Amino acid sequence: MTIEELRRYLEFYRDLGIKEVRTLAPPRAPLTPVPPPPPKPVAIPAEPLEFRPPAPVIPPGPAPIVMNPELTLPSLAPEGDSMEAIRNDIGDCRRCRLCEGRNKIVFGSGNEASPLVFVGEGPGADEDAQGLPFVGRAGQLLTQMIEGTSKKEGIPLLRPEVYICNVVKCRPPENRTPQPDEMEICGQFLFRQLMAIRPKAICCLGSTATKALLGTKDGVMKLRGKWQKWRDIPVMVTYHPSYLLRPYNQDAKREAWEDLKKVLHFVYD
Ligand code: SF4
Repeated sequence: MTIEELRRYLEFYRDLGIKEVRTLAPPRAPLTPVPPPPPKPVAIPAEPLEFRPPAPVIPPGPAPIVMNPELTLPSLAPEGDSMEAIRNDIGDCRRCRLCEGRNKIVFGSGNEASPLVFVGEGPGADEDAQGLPFVGRAGQLLTQMIEGTSKKEGIPLLRPEVYICNVVKCRPPENRTPQPDEMEICGQFLFRQLMAIRPKAICCLGSTATKALLGTKDGVMKLRGKWQKWRDIPVMVTYHPSYLLRPYNQDAKREAWEDLKKVLHFVYD
């Protein structure tokens, strides 16, 4: 519409008495979706990005079994067991806490085919230093007992002809008595030694060896002098030589000699 046409249009309405004219609102623009904001610019790193392959997806499965070799005990008496196999199984043993203070493992000494085995408690300082059982003062007394008694009884026997070992193979700190769990763990080796040797008789020296083999709470005084049994092997209980070294134990000394006489005659007659 031209201006002239608009002027004439307005005059026509004025003549009709219309004093006010309202303009119509312009038509609304159709609704259109608001476009998303433009993406922010991404900074490009100066160094090239390192390519990392995606981590492999591991299918769920059973938890792996963690073996602790320190806690794996050898079987009680494997078939074809031998002293060498037992020695190898002990190795640099750390199966119980007694390994912490030891210098040497004291496996045993003597004739591994002997018909007589002496079992003591555990190594002392001298034994720990040398790696041999009964080499201290108590050991010297044991040698005298074995060789003196056998000579007196007319039995030709020297200490190296018998076998001597202990319940625990490592020295307990401050020479304390081995604890039940230590005796149980290391006792497996003692049992294997005894089964491998299969002596005609065993002589238990003191209460720890007696408890380990006979599993009894009865003391040495009660059990000594009478034959007991470990499995099918006769066992004689007597005093530990270190107990006999005490000056006031003269009666015990005499009794120990009596016990030993019985053992020697039983085994060697
Ligand atoms: S005492 Fe026996 S079980 Fe304990 S660490 Fe020594 S050898 Fe091993």
